[in-house]
Parts: sequence; structure tokens; C-alpha cells
Amino acid sequence: MTTPKPSTICIGAGPAGLTAAYHLSKAGAAVTVLERDPVNVGGISRTESYKGFRFDIGGHRFFSKSREVEALWDEILGDQFVNRPRKSRIFYQRKLFDYPLKAFDALMKLGIVESILCMASYGKAKLMPIAKPKSFQDWVTNQFGQRLFGIFFKTYTEKVWGMKCTEISADWAAQRIKGLSLGTAVMNALFPRKPKSKEATIKTLIDSFRYPRLGPGQMWEAAAAHVERHGNHVHRGHDVVGLSRDAGTGRWTVTTQDTAGAKHSYDADNVVSSAAIADLAEYLRPAPPPEVLKAARALRYRDFITVALVVKDKGRFDDNWIYIHEPGVKVGRIQNFKSWSPDLVPDPTLNCYGLEYFCFEGDDLWTAKDEDLVALARKELVHLGLAADEDMVDGHVIRQPKAYPVYDDHYQANVQAVREWIEKDMPGLHLVGRNGMHKYNNQDHAMMTALLAAENILAGHRKWDVWQVNQDAEYHEAGEDRSLALDSGRLVPSRMAPARPEDISATRRADTPTWDPTAARPASRAAGRLSGRPRVCPASPGPWCRPAPLWPWSR
Ligand SMILES: Cc1cc2nc3c(=O)[nH]c(=O)nc-3n(C[C@H](O)[C@H](O)[C@H](O)COP(=O)(O)OP(=O)(O)OC[C@H]3O[C@@H](n4cnc5c(N)ncnc54)[C@H](O)[C@@H]3O)c2cc1C
Repeated sequence: MTTPKPSTICIGAGPAGLTAAYHLSKAGAAVTVLERDPVNVGGISRTESYKGFRFDIGGHRFFSKSREVEALWDEILGDQFVNRPRKSRIFYQRKLFDYPLKAFDALMKLGIVESILCMASYGKAKLMPIAKPKSFQDWVTNQFGQRLFGIFFKTYTEKVWGMKCTEISADWAAQRIKGLSLGTAVMNALFPRKPKSKEATIKTLIDSFRYPRLGPGQMWEAAAAHVERHGNHVHRGHDVVGLSRDAGTGRWTVTTQDTAGAKHSYDADNVVSSAAIADLAEYLRPAPPPEVLKAARALRYRDFITVALVVKDKGRFDDNWIYIHEPGVKVGRIQNFKSWSPDLVPDPTLNCYGLEYFCFEGDDLWTAKDEDLVALARKELVHLGLAADEDMVDGHVIRQPKAYPVYDDHYQANVQAVREWIEKDMPGLHLVGRNGMHKYNNQDHAMMTALLAAENILAGHRKWDVWQVNQDAEYHEAGEDRSLALDSGRLVPSRMAPARPEDISATRRADTPTWDPTAARPASRAAGRLSGRPRVCPASPGPWCRPAPLWPWSR
């Protein structure tokens, strides 16, 4: 007689929740996925749709250094991938600059006067550099000069990260823009190097990318369908509001509220949670001890709005997306969804642009009415000269809460406190994915953590330590491939440590989220000291984590 496989509830039908459910379903285990979104699966990697126009939250490229993840994508999606050329440029003063920045292209487009001023400011920076650069601004100014810093770094960085370049630690810039200066850029432009074969491979990956024909949501719809074909369930419109463990039986009961307000409950041996840690802690019973709850509540997030504008297609640009460095507009980036896949747009005479705004939940942008956001996006698109007002057809707003987990001075200690309590007192609860583990990573990482959690469930013991996996000898024996997926970390800037106690309290009073990607480091440091080692790009970075371009940005 065979022992029945343990049953599992997955909270969230994003890449992590669905990967766990997919793997468990394939192994013949019972699994129920509970997703709060009433319509879509895919989480942040979903594809939204409006009157037949389909669009992503940010534009999702499919690339992983892990062959296992790539193979899983192929297995789920079959022949539905398209290979798309990759093109993105920087918009500044009504001109589109090559990306990565090319010295001559940049100087030509800036014009003779501005180019001379840039060169003079570069010369000044070289002759009189800022001694001991502390901030991102200091570091980039030393490298490229004050003027180029203002044009190609300041505006976009501040929009994305929501803090001033004078507050961002210099070490992020040092890591991100390592080894490049205007001098080397000019030299590279004059005497281009022949790429070595490995570089050529990376370049190919950068020049094109794989993308599901109908957007990333197509991948996750296919995964959900697979789970259901195995007799398991994916319940949409079910917001998990309660999660309790029976100490006697060790079984879990999960309570959901559906869109009509009705309550439902589900039982299982295990729970895989990709819900944000800060939310999970609120509905866990028995409730976490006060210090654990406090740690979970202290975790912060940066949020994101896409305004999808349907326009008459005048073919004004064919980039996949454009970085907006123009001061005076709030938009940070513009996606061109037809360039991601023509099948995202139902009418060939139209196009759909996604104007992206980085914000904090509750701020003026977040709380603005949809019609005001559409009006703002229209105005800014016209102001930038990327569409004419008479070409505007329609607009739609999508808000994505908790798009980016914030790495602040305390996030690691906070995550650790929650994790230790769960591991000790909540056996059978597995944290996976991006917000589920408070890790600023891509789909492949989210999927790999879920795959390992599913293997632990099937094994009936902790075969893999999903958190410590890189240090785990057994894990390494299983092959490097998996660690490549788990290594898809991105660079995140860190705020410089405040100088004096009064600065610390001022920061707290202002309730400003801080950012710090560092690992082990003291919580506070003296002024002027760098705030730790930033996360580093993997050795051969994916297209969304590219080797040192001439300026920093985020996806
Ligand atoms: C702007 C942007 C661009 C990106 N670009 C790329 C890219 O190019 N390539 C790439 O690979 N990755 C990219 N990413 C990252 C990618 O989106 C994430 O890594 C991935 O979606 C994380 O998967 P997840 O399942 O861990 O979490 P999520 O995608 O956040 O899914 C979690 C799911 O859980 C559900 N949920 C949460 N709480 C509850 C609850 N209480 N009850 C029920 N359901 C709940 C949510 O509704 C959601 O569906 C990008 C991210 C952003 C923000």
C-alpha cells in the first residue's frame, strides 16, 4: 500500500505559488491554490487586459541562467514563446540616446555647446575630484562630471528609488558602474573591442529575449490549467484572511474571503506562502509574539502604477521601453507593448503604451483618481512629443502594491525574526518567492524557492534550506544549476547611514523608507562610512541585470 502524499495549500497564484502547485501536482499530491485576484493569475508577472489590449506590470523578460527553470518554462508554455529584439533608449530633451550609452552618440545628440560643457565639467571632476565620495552623486560626479550626472543619472534614479542621489550610498554606484568612466567610454567608442565568445553569448541574450506571445500571464494561466488538469484547484478571488495550525494534529486551516464577502475554509498538511511577510503575520494563528509581529510590520515596500494609454499607432518609436530622464515629468519609464509582442495589441492601427510611475502606497500618485492619472499620463506623453493629443484613444490604470520589497537598515533582522519563529513554532509553513521571502528578485528565483519547498514537502523533511541554499553543501552536490536561479539578485541602492542621533530621529519622524541591500553589517555606522556591500549582479547577468551600463536603473 502506498502512503498518501501530503496535501498542500499555496497562498498566491504568482510564479512561486503556481510553480509549487505545478510540481506537487505532477508528483500526484493534492494541492489547492488560493489567489486574491478575482481574474488573473501570475501575480506581479501577470498580464492585465483592457478591451483586448494586454500588458504587463513592467514588461517581463524570460531569462534564467538556470537550465532547469528555462526547461520548466518550455514545458509549461510549449511553442508559445516568441523571440523579440531588445531595444531601449534614454529620452532626454526630446532626443533618444542609445542604451547602453555610447560616447559619440551621446555627445552628438547633446549638441556642440552642451558637449563642451560636459567635457569641461568632466575635466574639472578629474582635476578636482570630491575627496572621499560618500554619496551616489559624489561618486558619479567624480566619474563623469557634474553635468553628465545631471543629465543621465539624477532624474531617473531619484524617480525610481524615491530618494535623493545625495542620500544614496556611493558603494551602489561603485558596484553598478564599476570600471567605467567617460574616458573609457570614449576609448571603447574609438577602439571597439572584439567580444570574447562568452561576452558574445551574453550580448546575444541582451540583444533579444524570449517572451510569451500573449505576455507573461500566458505562462501562468498555462501553469494553473495544468494544476487543474491534475484534479487540483486554483481558486481566484479568494483573499486569505486567516491561517491557523492545530497544535494537536499539526494540520493547517486556511480561511479565505471571496469577492462577495463569503468566508471559506480549507485544510491541508502544509502551506506554501508567497504572500507578503508583513501581511502573513497579521492573519497567522496562534498570533506571532509581539516582537515578531513588530518585525513583520516594519518591512517596507515600494509601489508601482502603470497607466496604459491606447493610441493611434504612428510608429513614433519601436523600443520595448524608454527610460525617461527628462526633468519636469513624473513618468519614469514608458513601455511599448506592441514591441514586446504584436499579439498584445488587438488592432494593428493602434498601440498601447505603459507609462510607469514609481510611488509609495498612500502618496499623492497612489491615491490620485484613475481619470486624473490617465490625464497626467496623456499630458506627459504629449509633452514629451511621443504622441499627439488627437491620437489618444483610451486609458486604463493598474496599481501594483508591494512591487519592490524595500531593503532598509533593519530588513534582514526583521525577516530573520519572522523566519526563526516560523521555523520553530509553525512547522509545515513554507515561505517562498519575492515578497514571501522579502527578496528583490526575478521570476526564476521565485520559482526555484517554490520548487525546493515542494521537494521538501514531498520528502517529508527539510531536504533543502531554501534560505541558506547557497551555503548548503548538499545543495551544491545537487548541481550548480539551481544556485544560478537563486543567484538572480539585483542591485539595490542603500541609503547612507545618518550621521548623528538627531538625524536618525529625523529620518524616523519623516517615516522615510530606507534602502539597503547589505548582508551582515552593523545597523548604524558613522557618517561617511559606506553602508556595506551591495548585492552584486550574477557573474553573467541576465538582460534585466546587465553588466555595468553607464548609469543605474531598476526593473
Ligand atoms: C516592474 C517590474 C518588472 C519586472 N521585470 C521582470 C522581468 O523582466 N523578468 C523577471 O523574471 N521578473 C521580473 N520582475 C519580477 C517578477 O515580477 C517577480 O519576481 C515574480 O512575479 C515574483 O513571483 P511571486 O510568486 O514570488 O510573487 P508575486 O508575483 O507577487 O505573486 C504573489 C501572489 O500572491 C497573491 N497574494 C498575496 N497575498 C495574498 C492573500 N492574502 N491571499 C491570496 N492571495 C494572495 C498575490 O495576489 C499574487 O498573485 C519584475 C518585477 C517588477 C515589479
